[in-house]
Amino acid sequence: MVAMGAPPTQANDRPPPPRLSKSFVDRVTTMVGAQGAITDPVAMAPYLADMRGLYQSRSPLVVRPATTDQVAEIIRLCAAEGVPIVPQGGNTGLCGGAVASGELVLNLGRMNNVRAVDPLDHSITVDAGCILANIQRAAEEVDRLFPLSLGAEGSCQIGGNLSTNAGGTAVLHYGTMRELTLGLEVVLPDGEVWDGLRGLRKDSTGYDLKQLFIGAEGTLGVITAAVLKLFPRPAARHTAFVAFDNLDAAIELLARARAASADAVTAFEVMSRRALAFATTHVEGASDPLDQAHEWYALVEFSTGPGQDEMGAALEALLAQALEAGLIVDATIAQSEDQRSRLWFLREALPEGQAPEGASIKNDTSVPVSKLPHFIREADAAMQALCPGIRPVAFGHAGDGNIHYNLTQPEGMDRQGFLDRWWELAGRVDEIAHRMNGSFSAEHGVGLLKRREMARLKSPLELDLMRRIKDALDPGNIMNPGKLL
Ligand code: FAD
Repeated sequence: MVAMGAPPTQANDRPPPPRLSKSFVDRVTTMVGAQGAITDPVAMAPYLADMRGLYQSRSPLVVRPATTDQVAEIIRLCAAEGVPIVPQGGNTGLCGGAVASGELVLNLGRMNNVRAVDPLDHSITVDAGCILANIQRAAEEVDRLFPLSLGAEGSCQIGGNLSTNAGGTAVLHYGTMRELTLGLEVVLPDGEVWDGLRGLRKDSTGYDLKQLFIGAEGTLGVITAAVLKLFPRPAARHTAFVAFDNLDAAIELLARARAASADAVTAFEVMSRRALAFATTHVEGASDPLDQAHEWYALVEFSTGPGQDEMGAALEALLAQALEAGLIVDATIAQSEDQRSRLWFLREALPEGQAPEGASIKNDTSVPVSKLPHFIREADAAMQALCPGIRPVAFGHAGDGNIHYNLTQPEGMDRQGFLDRWWELAGRVDEIAHRMNGSFSAEHGVGLLKRREMARLKSPLELDLMRRIKDALDPGNIMNPGKLL
């Protein structure tokens, strides 16, 4: 069944929260200092922008605390006065999770210190407002790797990454934020601070509380710091760009690559021909590394430790055998760091390449890896039947079964007319994935955008358990109300 529904609206549909009194704003300003309390509309604008332009955010006050104590003080005051809060990191989220509809916006950007790095423990302790790229650099300085990597890494914050359980391009080998986290510090909705900043690898003492807050999108508390896992830095990376006649062959190559490299595959990013063509047509500097056009491509990367020079040879042998067997139709291996970065540039250019082609309906689907080709076939057929001429643009982290099955409008169609069919089309995609035991949000979260799908596709028992957790931790419903559930 396809439930029809409105496309994302221009405004959050929640009733406006109570107006903040001048004395409330004055008290918050005293707590955080003048530079930490923003009420000027121009200065507030970046905090109220929605990355995809789907929502119009509004708030009477953006607060930027500098310490955990300040966060706790603000939340205690908000709890006492019944003032709802939208926690915010880099505001790069793609589902409207950090959008406000009159709530106080609590932005963590000033809390950006690396508290400690321990190369022996392979761990790093950071404030929640640290920009992801800065954490990667801090790890590199002690010859370690923090592997979370995604297109927004220059501006998203680790608190946002934790709260959306971010994924990115290295999940296949290192896992999502759930797997990369050892401990958290969280300010709870009553202002109490939970110090769970333990860097233990093993701790079997009951419920794993940190996992409650990871992926909670700010609905259970404000994450103020985290202990994260580090890894040895790869000594070398071997990167290939491979072409296939169909996606089934790509998934078969992935399995062979994992076996051939003793599981050293750290990225396996696929893209359809249309995704590549849009990027090479519209994004300056993006070029097709192969001479001829093919149906599907994968960017495959092996990462190796010192003394594992044979891994480059293993990649070459794998591709030579696959070519001979007809599994792949063409391939090129990066011979230098410059060539490698050009391949990655092409991968990162894919989202940008879609915009000039018209309106785009975004999906963030995951299914079991082996079902990806089947998913694409079913979704393609369903979309053409519903909207002839629609142009699916599929790309993503196939190694994790995660595909961004985006839908570009048919050529010449009215832009708004297409967007008005958002939920008719995206809803059908979500249903197809759901039937394959898949997810309608692999890594972007739920926010405002996908609450409809939560209600439709999550099991009633799971929803009930989530609501009971929310009620137990945040009985006053002040933490990011209206999001997720
Ligand atoms: P925000 O957008 O500020 O917030 C996201 C959610 O987390 C909101 O619900 C907010 O209330 C909550 N939150 C933020 N900070 C805290 C905190 N300290 N405590 C409690 N709650 C908090 N995502 C992926 O997973 N993989 C990708 O490959 C990927 N690629 C992207 C590429 C581009 C170009 C862009 C623009 C985005 C991409 N994203 C991707 C989405 C986005 O970058 C991630 O969701 C990121 O984790 C959000 O971090 P943020 O700091 O911007 O969070």
